[in-house]
Amino acid sequence: MSHPPPLRRLAVVGAGWAGLSAAVQATRAGHQVVLFDMAGQAGGRARSAAQGPLMLDNGQHILIGAYRDTLALMRQVGVDVDQSLWRQPLSLVSPRGTGLRLPGGPAIPAFVRGVLGWTDLPWRARLALLTQAVRWRLGGFRAPADWSVARLCEGLPQVAFDALIDPLCVAALNTPGREASAQVLLTVLKEALFGPPGGADLLLPRRPLQELLPMPALTWLRAQGAVWQPGHRVQQLTPLSGGWQVDGEAVDAVVLACSATEAARLLAQQAPAWATVAAALPYQPIITVWLRHPGVRWPQAMMAFPADASPGLAAPAQFGFDLGRLGLAPDTFALVISGAADWVEHGTEQTVHALRQQLQQAFSGSPLAWQDAQVSVVAVRTEKRATFACTPGLRRPSATPLPGLAVAGDYVAGPFPATLEGAVRSGRLAVEALLQA
Ligand SMILES: Cc1cc2nc3c(=O)[nH]c(=O)nc-3n(C[C@H](O)[C@H](O)[C@H](O)COP(=O)(O)OP(=O)(O)OC[C@H]3O[C@@H](n4cnc5c(N)ncnc54)[C@H](O)[C@@H]3O)c2cc1C
Repeated sequence: MSHPPPLRRLAVVGAGWAGLSAAVQATRAGHQVVLFDMAGQAGGRARSAAQGPLMLDNGQHILIGAYRDTLALMRQVGVDVDQSLWRQPLSLVSPRGTGLRLPGGPAIPAFVRGVLGWTDLPWRARLALLTQAVRWRLGGFRAPADWSVARLCEGLPQVAFDALIDPLCVAALNTPGREASAQVLLTVLKEALFGPPGGADLLLPRRPLQELLPMPALTWLRAQGAVWQPGHRVQQLTPLSGGWQVDGEAVDAVVLACSATEAARLLAQQAPAWATVAAALPYQPIITVWLRHPGVRWPQAMMAFPADASPGLAAPAQFGFDLGRLGLAPDTFALVISGAADWVEHGTEQTVHALRQQLQQAFSGSPLAWQDAQVSVVAVRTEKRATFACTPGLRRPSATPLPGLAVAGDYVAGPFPATLEGAVRSGRLAVEALLQA
């Protein structure tokens, strides 16, 4: 007869989505969890905060159907996923109604039908996309580690690269195609576009991020006896024989689920080589701008803004979201500028000015009455270290630098870019690694 593992006391440092995932996983396995976060609330980079009467997220987030770990975790802590997320097949449609629309159903036929039906893309570009997709599939979605996405797509017509590959790359990797890792993009395409049915579906939050995981997870954890310590920035990790001390508190094991820079600081003495890799990660910013336009409702909850929609203008935003349509905030629109390093340099005023011009131009040929004179700016949030820059051959720190300590976070070595799913999966894997050890 097999015995359950002995009850162990586990510290989780950081209550972002990786830390919450680790805490739930460890609690489910029967361990006593103490969860620390330096902030007063859980959620990390995927949190919400009040902005006047509105609850705004730290930045607009998109989930997709392939986020298996994330959706399972939300369900485990009692979230009604179908009510909380707006699900639709992948659609990258611009204000003029052009762009890719995938039908539902099994992945490969849906992709073929979607691309063939993309009538505003020249035939040559559509066929090249399908041929390229077949080649990637036959090659097992593998690319040399030092290839960029631009290098991977050298055979594709520029129009296909600009209309599909670059927007997907910026959305998923937060890194422009000319700089992004070909292998990571191929892994995402394999999971999302060519995986089980529904993998590419867009899942758009209908509730503030706080209600999608952080709050329900904390309620669930507390009900199971876990201890939550907000406002506690962990200062010191000290190895003991058979365990660790976290700011003087003895535990059997630690999941370090804070940012890479904080993890590097905490492990600088015990694991200097690991800390050097963690501290050297490059980052890409994301800017989210919330605009109000009374009386406007977009025909779909998410809109794509192709760069070529604004000839002669710099076009900062790639995607926009109608928060009224999602039931979050009437007449309010979130515009997302990913891979935003250049725009951070320009400054907020210039970025918002360029964005407003971009929208005016993009809607000019559409039936929607978007009048810049009626637009007001609700909020602008710039996350300078939104995600690591997902470049070819990037060295990412390992999950298990020391005995009795595992690291979780979207930046930890793995096949995926910095996403909620990468974070949640790494939290589960960190606990599994500790249990196996
Ligand atoms: C603007 C923006 C838009 C994004 N859009 C998307 C998207 O559309 N889809 C998607 O999948 N992903 C998106 N992401 C990425 C996603 O938010 C992250 O991948 C994910 O939230 C990372 O979670 P994490 O737990 O790894 O790290 P974090 O969220 O950074 O959590 C780390 C936690 O550790 C805490 N901490 C740090 N140091 C200490 C310490 N010493 N002691 C105690 N606590 C500490 C911090 O307060 C924080 O709560 C976006 C990110 C941003 C910023």
